[in-house]
Amino acid sequence: MSAVPRIVLKKGREKPLLRGHPWVFSGAVARFEGDVTAGAVGEAVSADGQFLGVGHLNPRSQIVFRLLSRNQGPPGIDFLKERIAAAAAWREKVVAGKTTAYRMINGEGDFLPGLVLDRYGDIFVLQILTAGMERLKDRLVEVLASECHPRSIYERGDAPTREEEGLVQKSGLLYGEDIPDHVEIDEGGCRFHVDVRKGQKTGFYLDQRENRCTLGGMSAGKRILDCFCYTGAFSIHGARGGAGELVLVDSSEEALAMAETHFELNGLSGVSRRFMRGNAFDVIRSLDPGYDVVLLDPPPFAKKKGNISNASRGYKELNLQAFRLLKKGGLLFTFSCSHHVSFDLFQKIVFAAALDADRQVQWVSRSGHPFDHPISLYHPEGEYLKGLICRAL
Ligand code: SAH
Repeated sequence: MSAVPRIVLKKGREKPLLRGHPWVFSGAVARFEGDVTAGAVGEAVSADGQFLGVGHLNPRSQIVFRLLSRNQGPPGIDFLKERIAAAAAWREKVVAGKTTAYRMINGEGDFLPGLVLDRYGDIFVLQILTAGMERLKDRLVEVLASECHPRSIYERGDAPTREEEGLVQKSGLLYGEDIPDHVEIDEGGCRFHVDVRKGQKTGFYLDQRENRCTLGGMSAGKRILDCFCYTGAFSIHGARGGAGELVLVDSSEEALAMAETHFELNGLSGVSRRFMRGNAFDVIRSLDPGYDVVLLDPPPFAKKKGNISNASRGYKELNLQAFRLLKKGGLLFTFSCSHHVSFDLFQKIVFAAALDADRQVQWVSRSGHPFDHPISLYHPEGEYLKGLICRAL
């Protein structure tokens, strides 16, 4: 028996790994050999003994193997340094000068499965989503501290997916100075206060940056409805771009309070705005038509495959109402961040909504993840954000 723990795959089940997919599901495994514990580094081999790669093992997860490297031997500190440096270097190229907040490591998309790192200036927020990465936490902190020199590294360990890996929910400071209640960031000239301890995700929806900047450039004189506004980031870009009037809708009281702070922080106290706290499905039905721009950025409706049809109904209703509210020539910025709703399906839902609303509609832009959220081509499951900008005639 091998000293290195390993999984031996069923006959023929090595193909996805050989073709670059980083995951092995439990159903593909013929047997475990050696001491296969949650988070151990081990090997995957084919039924006839061919070495396929080294990765993180977790016998209690549906995903029992996550590929780290195709080379034999345990990936050491140099491996971590190289992957982190490569991820950081790409961001230097694509976000420098545009924002002080961005995703520096995007899990499988940066070939570091289970690891997410968001940067808010010199405050790093780490999300560890697998037992394998959990075991590497101390080394990760060491490498990040010595190579990237952050002021603080804070862990947000409250993602529900941690439980699927057998990890407890745990958040707190891992390195450096205590973090302030609000970390200030600059995104395309707009200032925001981010609560990295308690805010949603790691505090801010970094994945919508480019869509917010797009809106900013199209807002002059416009009347904008921002549904699912969170802390008002779209609206602030809109207001700075000269929007005439804004209506912001969210179910979270704290998020709306922060949105109001953001108007003041950006010198936009004079801009006409209205905050509506409630269920966006009810609020949007209660509004009268007459908007130049409607934004729909709801939370994921389909977190599981089984929820696709309910999610589709939800998206359809929201988009139908949005089309009803738009003036002639008005723009709809509509998004889905449901993993299980494909772009194709999302576009069909928006089409069905336009048809029911009896509007003539063009789509003028399709968008997805920004440059700091790379997705491995070999791991299409990493994609979640789909966006359409539509023009209702
Ligand atoms: N557009 C935001 C991010 C939106 S995240 C930005 O750019 O920052 C989704 C938001 O929807 C969250 O703020 C959440 O509080 C809110 N939300 C969730 N369910 C809701 C509902 N039924 N009605 C209104 N808001 C809801």
